[in-house]
Amino acid sequence: MTESTTASRETLGFQTEVKQLLHLMIHSLYSNREIFLRELVSNASDACDKLRFEALHNDALYENASDLNIRISFDKEARTLTIRDSGIGMSRDEVISNLGTIAKSGTRDFFSKLSGDQQKDAHLIGQFGVGFYSAFIVADKVSVLTRRAGEKADQGVRWESDGGGEFSIEMVDRVARGTEITLHLREGQDDLLAGYKLREIIKKYSNHIVQPILMQKEEWKDGKYETLAEDETVNQASALWAKSKNEITEEQYREFYKHVGHDFDDPLAWSHARVEGKQEYTQLLYIPSHAPFDLYDRQARHGIKLYVRRVFIMDDAEQLMPQYMRFVRGVVDSADLPLNVSREILQESKDIEAIRKGCTGKVLGLLADMAENDKEKYAKFWGEFGQVLKEGVGEDFANKDKIAALMRFATTKADTAEQIVSLKEYIARMKDGQEKIYYVTADSFNAAKNSPHLEVFRKKGIEVLLLSDRVDEWVVSNLHEFEGKQLTSVAKGGLDLGALEDAAEKQEQEKQAGELKGLTDRIKSSLADKVKEVRITHRLTDSPACLVAGEHDISGNLARLMKAAGQKAPNAQPILEINPKHPVVLRLQEENGRFDDWAAVLFDQALLAEGGQLDDPAGFVKRINQLMLEMGK
Ligand code: ADP
Repeated sequence: MTESTTASRETLGFQTEVKQLLHLMIHSLYSNREIFLRELVSNASDACDKLRFEALHNDALYENASDLNIRISFDKEARTLTIRDSGIGMSRDEVISNLGTIAKSGTRDFFSKLSGDQQKDAHLIGQFGVGFYSAFIVADKVSVLTRRAGEKADQGVRWESDGGGEFSIEMVDRVARGTEITLHLREGQDDLLAGYKLREIIKKYSNHIVQPILMQKEEWKDGKYETLAEDETVNQASALWAKSKNEITEEQYREFYKHVGHDFDDPLAWSHARVEGKQEYTQLLYIPSHAPFDLYDRQARHGIKLYVRRVFIMDDAEQLMPQYMRFVRGVVDSADLPLNVSREILQESKDIEAIRKGCTGKVLGLLADMAENDKEKYAKFWGEFGQVLKEGVGEDFANKDKIAALMRFATTKADTAEQIVSLKEYIARMKDGQEKIYYVTADSFNAAKNSPHLEVFRKKGIEVLLLSDRVDEWVVSNLHEFEGKQLTSVAKGGLDLGALEDAAEKQEQEKQAGELKGLTDRIKSSLADKVKEVRITHRLTDSPACLVAGEHDISGNLARLMKAAGQKAPNAQPILEINPKHPVVLRLQEENGRFDDWAAVLFDQALLAEGGQLDDPAGFVKRINQLMLEMGK
């Protein structure tokens, strides 16, 4: 870009998603309008933190003025409100990308999910976090004046927009470092032009901000407020996490969460502790009350801010939390790490490993406590984050048992999709003689619930876990037992119910297997390219046949999941099991002419029943029609 164009005023368009966000926000967040100040103050505070951190390596950035503060003022005549900070400021390029686009992964996806229902979308927008753009809730024109710390005075930038589709940008002279945001208030917002009102909002939402928030002092005189020349600090201006617990109110914890978590809603729970010992650090960790829209985006930001002795070091310090706790938000403040710690150093650091271990333990403890003492809250947690926590069974070997104890399942006892039963509860009500924890996996709750593999379990009143989350196959491939009880798939290997069957039942099964040997052999040769074995089963009471995976093969459900994800699944043929008491099976014994068709239908329906897809659906339909016609004869 040449000198002359940078010097002149330019008009640029917002990214499409920003336009959508602005529109939605102005129309749906109006009832919550005061939060704009919280968002702008939160940004100003972050900007001060960033300057303090960068100045650790480059003192010149302070430009001989190391005061970091936020100033709020208003002009009744001009009907403007101004928020000024002495933080890091922004260069022209930064202004364009920060205030013209949204740099969050999954943004497009998020906007495509909005329903058009303002109330619902307003809630979603809160999850998304609105930040700077919330200024347009109360302002019909916003003007930003900024200069990045360390740049020359002629490197000031003015950004202006009325919140329509465009903004203007121009280079200006600006002496002061940092950012000044002026809001030209909309009609009807004049109550914001009063010191007491602004103080009230700041106390409510921004009391915990570390930097002083300054306003001009006011004095009540002759029936009105008179503004004095001197400033006063309106907020508490100290690091909340550094205080002791009994000095902090619930309300303060909640408001602080909204700042660090970039969230509109209250947190579900938090854990605040100072840890002493080999590593000394303070952690204030929050569990949000709802999942963010990008929970499954592996590139998404993580929620922990790292401080070293109150100095902000970095956002999204992913090394401080394992992946499966990526929903946790909060602050870790270390007393031992060097101030010049970088992401690369963090990755290798033994100290960080110790902190991560400690934080993980705290969160697991917090959850265990919630699960024990506040079941309703825990159910909410599980509904939002259960699937992510389950990943931990494979990711965090040391805590596998603790995570397993926190898991909740749907089971055949309740027949609702709600995941409410713990493994402990399951074990406590196992039948006499039951030694294993039984489960079935399928790609939906209904497919799991109606799986033919469950028939004998229903008949005998044995509870089975119904697993239908995508992550469940990962869970069962990593969790082989819980409290000494083996986890066993009802659709894999030979069914050995052990002591749950009596000797007479076993004897009868063997007898039937012998009697029907001729039939199973015939079916096997008819389906030679589809199954690796055909055998008599006692899993079934109502269905004629089902498919079973070999003991060491992957389950049919996992093979389908892998295929759907574009992965190559090992090609293991299933075992076809047939029900020796079923009339169709008995009838098959006498069939000659159409034996191959019958056998093919038996196989195809078993595949359908477990949620599989037929190789040749048209062939299946044709055979069924033929069989129906014959029956009619
Ligand atoms: P978020 O704070 O969630 O990133 P915002 O829309 O509030 O989203 O802000 C976008 C970006 O603009 C911020 O990440 C920051 O880089 C920059 N920014 C906003 N306000 C300021 C400020 N007062 N000083 C410096 N940079 C700012």
